[in-house]
Amino acid sequence: MKIVSVSEDIKFERRIAITPEIAKKYIALGFELSISENYGEHLGFRDDEYKELGVKIYKDEKEIINSGDIIVQLGLPSDDKISLIKKNQILIGVLNPYKNKEKIENLVKNKINIFSLELLPRITRAQSMDILSSQANLAGYKAVIESFANFEKAIPMMMTAAGTVPAAKVLVVGAGVAGLQAIATAKRMGAIVFATDVRMASKEQVESLGGKFLTVEGSENLETEGGYAKETSEDFKKKQEELLRETLKKIDIVICTALIPGKKAPVIIKDNMITNMQTGSVIYDLAAVQGGNTAYSEVDKIINKDGVRIMGETNILNKLPISASSLYAKNLFNFVTNLYDKENKKININLEDEIIEKTLIK
Ligand code: NAD
Repeated sequence: MKIVSVSEDIKFERRIAITPEIAKKYIALGFELSISENYGEHLGFRDDEYKELGVKIYKDEKEIINSGDIIVQLGLPSDDKISLIKKNQILIGVLNPYKNKEKIENLVKNKINIFSLELLPRITRAQSMDILSSQANLAGYKAVIESFANFEKAIPMMMTAAGTVPAAKVLVVGAGVAGLQAIATAKRMGAIVFATDVRMASKEQVESLGGKFLTVEGSENLETEGGYAKETSEDFKKKQEELLRETLKKIDIVICTALIPGKKAPVIIKDNMITNMQTGSVIYDLAAVQGGNTAYSEVDKIINKDGVRIMGETNILNKLPISASSLYAKNLFNFVTNLYDKENKKININLEDEIIEKTLIK
């Protein structure tokens, strides 16, 4: 059984799907591996390191793709690479089936088995494969680091002979995986942390991390059976707006993470709230690429609105690609081994397995 991976376009994607650590594990299970020349060079993983483990390195990406039973990637490969994938081959990645609908439909029509890992069910058995959690966790951490680096005051309270520097106040909007890590990171650095979410289950989690949960008055729990958020009503939006407008006057840094699956991100931090914030405040919007949680979010730009800087990026994980690749490659390995029938040494696309059924694009 051959697993292959071709280089991503590192201008946009610096993460990789097979790290040397994971290559060793695939090989120990009896898989053959092939990758492109200089595949992990930008992360300090030299070709020789892979070769010593038994990985084959090719210059010609056509040769790599042709030889693979399973092609593992981050994003959907470029059109010229996609056109090389043939019937019955398997492609696994974070393929964004909403954005790449047409291209993916064509691949499916050509009987290529496509698995998109953002469709993984959030069930206990899938936790070791959960790329959404592993990557969101790192993103939440890094959003705090980026915003703190752009904030021109100290974060922790400091009592000095020259006077006291007050602790910075952080608000985290959306307390899912990214938000909870943002709370933990901001707390560790000495900030006073507040958080809000539409799912009431998150209140306890926020409090267990030392954050103060801000509940929208009279709100019901807006959580789906799958644990995701529901869209809010107009009444809820109005109440949330009132709560945040007052709170934001005292907040120094906002970390936005609020998402609704399959939809544009909700705009939560409105124009008039930003106007009320203190000059020098910073907003890091992790939802910017899905449309943004603020009225002004734009990707890969820092917008200055009345002295409040609002920032967001297309792919914050490109700023910690080694950690992100390490976790992604492990998640992917666990997904592949779940697909693999060890006894008969073949891939078993068992549609009775919820993990396989939910991630396979039909
Ligand atoms: P997500 O990225 O879809 O959304 C981020 C957060 O934004 C969520 O907490 C959501 O409730 C919140 N949000 C949405 N609209 C909002 C609004 N208008 N105002 C405030 N907050 C808003 O979520 P996620 O981080 O992927 O987590 C989704 C769920 O999955 C959570 O319940 C989490 O605990 C659960 N989960 C379960 C597992 C598992 O294996 N069992 C693993 C990971 C996550």
